[in-house]
Amino acid sequence: MGDTAGVASRDRAERLKQLPPYLFVELDRAKRALIGQGKDVIDLGVGDPDLGTPPAIIARLKEAVDDPANHRYSMTEGLRQLREAIARWYARRFDVELDPSTEIVPLLGSKEGLGHLSLALANPGDVVLIPDPCYPPYRSGATLAGAQIVAMPLLEENGFFPDLGALSQRAVRQAKLMFLNYPNNPTGAVATLEQFEEAVTLAKEYGFSIAHDAAYSEVAFDGYQPPSLLQVPDAKSLALEFHSLSKTFNMTGWRIGWACGNAALIGALTQLKTHLDSGIFQPIQWAGIEALEHGPELLRQTLQVYHERRELLVAGLQEGGWQVTPPKASLYVWTRVPTQESSMAFATRILQQAHVIVTPGVGFGPSGEGYVRLSLTVPTARLQEAVTRLEKVL
Ligand SMILES: *Cc1c(COP(=O)(O)O)cnc(C)c1O
Repeated sequence: MGDTAGVASRDRAERLKQLPPYLFVELDRAKRALIGQGKDVIDLGVGDPDLGTPPAIIARLKEAVDDPANHRYSMTEGLRQLREAIARWYARRFDVELDPSTEIVPLLGSKEGLGHLSLALANPGDVVLIPDPCYPPYRSGATLAGAQIVAMPLLEENGFFPDLGALSQRAVRQAKLMFLNYPNNPTGAVATLEQFEEAVTLAKEYGFSIAHDAAYSEVAFDGYQPPSLLQVPDAKSLALEFHSLSKTFNMTGWRIGWACGNAALIGALTQLKTHLDSGIFQPIQWAGIEALEHGPELLRQTLQVYHERRELLVAGLQEGGWQVTPPKASLYVWTRVPTQESSMAFATRILQQAHVIVTPGVGFGPSGEGYVRLSLTVPTARLQEAVTRLEKVL
């Protein structure tokens, strides 16, 4: 799409040219070519739920859309009722109290807030600590802010949690902000409250903030309930947590999420946002309230489907000789490339020979090399078909 060098690139601002290159150009081209030839391509590359939004949420949207009071500009800080619903949800789910007036800001999808946060907090040259591999917007936002990115490798032997003791003194001293994300995309790893505590202790000692992306906090299996970083005592003195309705309620296209936690940090992000957006369309906010109030019932069925798919994919890959650990949470199976190929070479070959798309780990950062990510967001029968095809080509 946009980021290859071309005629228009000389017109672009330098800061845009600093953004990392889009690594999947070749893979995308190969995919489009196959589809153009009429081939049946199964896409396990994207993390976009295929299950529809629950009908109760849609009904609430329809009702709200008929009310002219909802047609005007909404405010950046969102409906009071939405912030209150978020606070109630947080209290129920995590036993964490939030002040709806100062400690919550709704977002046009959490990606928006995660991408903007560095602009609100970091000066040029400040260090931003970012996991590698990671969800790309953390890096893009820090890059646009002119910050200095220090990567925190997520290694399998550490359960894909950063080795905080291995960070250099210089990095932690100059750090303004650290991003964390559990349940993790792309690794599917989860973190304990003790690990969060370790991060909060370090942040307190060196005076930096933490942004924890909890987009998958509700997508967990076998009765496991991922913790909130804000459950760490005193985390609210320096941390924000980002949530999204996208993955929890199959609402990726709706664009609604939020950040919550430290009031000064929320204030900074809100201030920036008042200059850039005018809030979420109010009917979507009302639908979001519906989702939060009826969360557990709406979620149960969705989780059953993902659980069934996880079992099928993990068992299928294991039978094919892959070494796979079933993820406790998230929509992804993260696994070592089962051959000697690079992740990109392997993904390209799988696409050509099996017409199955998997995401090469290197696309999420250099430490993702050697791994691929497979997503659970295709219908179960298609997943079964993908497994059968993968077994044939290996
Ligand atoms: C999907 C995803 C999000 C973004 O969700 P939106 O609220 O739809 O912007 C955030 N973080 C991670 C890690 C994700 O995978």
